[in-house]
Amino acid sequence: MKNTFTKIVCTLGPATSSEKMIKSLAKAGANVFRLNFSHGDYERHAENFQIIRQMSREQKSPYGILCDLQGPKLRVGKFKKDKVRLIPGQKFRMDMSEKLGDETRVSLMHPEIFKALKQNMSLLLNDGQIQLNVDDFGPDYVNTTVEVGGILSNHKGVNVPDVILPISALTSKDLKDLDFALKLGADWICLSFVQKPEDVKMARDIIGDKAGIIVKIEKPSALQYLKEIIELADGVMVARGDLGVECPIETVPAIQKRIIETCRAAGKPVIVATQMLESMILSPVPTRAEVSDVATAVYDGADAVMLSAETAMGEYPIKAVSMMKKIITKTSQDIHYINDMEKSTMPPDKTVASAITSAIRQMIKVLDKPACIVSYSVSGKTTLRTARERPLLPIISMTTTEAIANRMALVWGVRSVVVPTLEDLTDVIPVAVNYVKEAGYAKPDDEIIITAGIPFATHGNTNLIHIAKVG
Ligand code: PGA
Ligand code: MN
Repeated sequence: MKNTFTKIVCTLGPATSSEKMIKSLAKAGANVFRLNFSHGDYERHAENFQIIRQMSREQKSPYGILCDLQGPKLRVGKFKKDKVRLIPGQKFRMDMSEKLGDETRVSLMHPEIFKALKQNMSLLLNDGQIQLNVDDFGPDYVNTTVEVGGILSNHKGVNVPDVILPISALTSKDLKDLDFALKLGADWICLSFVQKPEDVKMARDIIGDKAGIIVKIEKPSALQYLKEIIELADGVMVARGDLGVECPIETVPAIQKRIIETCRAAGKPVIVATQMLESMILSPVPTRAEVSDVATAVYDGADAVMLSAETAMGEYPIKAVSMMKKIITKTSQDIHYINDMEKSTMPPDKTVASAITSAIRQMIKVLDKPACIVSYSVSGKTTLRTARERPLLPIISMTTTEAIANRMALVWGVRSVVVPTLEDLTDVIPVAVNYVKEAGYAKPDDEIIITAGIPFATHGNTNLIHIAKVG
């Protein structure tokens, strides 16, 4: 446990919505739970939310809760016979008529899409399995020719990769869901299908600092503004499901690396998501390729890896989390991982906090028995800066609110503990030493590195580093 750093996010769903299952997921290694507002009802989400919070209190161990908003996912309407088969070369129309669909047409109640069309562009349906070519269009219809055919059933998704759609990342459903999630007290809110920096700003106006904002990168346009978007967000998800539809699938690994690297430079947590152990939805053992995929995200220094359908509706949710934990543990012990983390230090920026946190690395090398790092961080900012350095020691985040402790559960290497507000450094040192000893992070004679800020009442002003010997 002590020497694993990458966190596990697991999505709750019908397979795992009970106290027993949630506790088993946590025991198997889950650090953060994702409530997916594309599915499930409010009652279920609220129940799961309370179970997790109760568990955190019982175990005195913070778990993060991430509420994922559906965003402007475009979907076709319903068919008379629930589904149709589209054959290459045939004509197919989508329009604003509410009539049930058939082999020749289906409704698509998104006027924005028609405005953004261009002749001969591609529309991708059903996770990219069906491809339509745009022949002609008007304000409320599009006529297409099927390029790649397949079965199209009720409510399947439509992706329009080539353009920035004139739609906000928050639909009216999202606004309602967001209000609900904030009232519950979500630690993180995920925004889906973000296209441009303004989308994040709009969410920030509503969310403020009540929760961290995670931007899901799943549109090519978001990649165009990647740096700005990351700057405005508090965290990022590499949402490979839709990303692999919107961008050529073979470009996803390189995009993943680029996003992780950019987030690490910014010191913001990054989650790698979707299909990580996909085959475990039905099988107790993953494929070798899936194991390698999880390991790759760990080697790249991602903060967290995520399970979606594997834990939401799979047959082996607990096994999937245990497997992920095993892969993380093994990978973290590998010399390549240790070397990669040591080599991939991010250059410090010109701030006092960065000067302090970047010095931690050097201290670890020089000290005799460094056991852990304690960051007394009310806002969590210094904890994030410390994690940015990827020091291969547990980062103990001593903070004063449950909200920040829970939020930090997502962050690479961080273990949080809630402490009373401390007045000055002379209080912090004994509290830190006692805690790390009691919790088993250090033993007598070990050294611990403590960071804090003076004066204590001001937030985000870490300016002090202290080495304490555990007595
Ligand atoms: P989703 O997001 O599961 O909400 O679609 C993740 C992804 O697209 O990978
Ligand atoms: Mn998605």
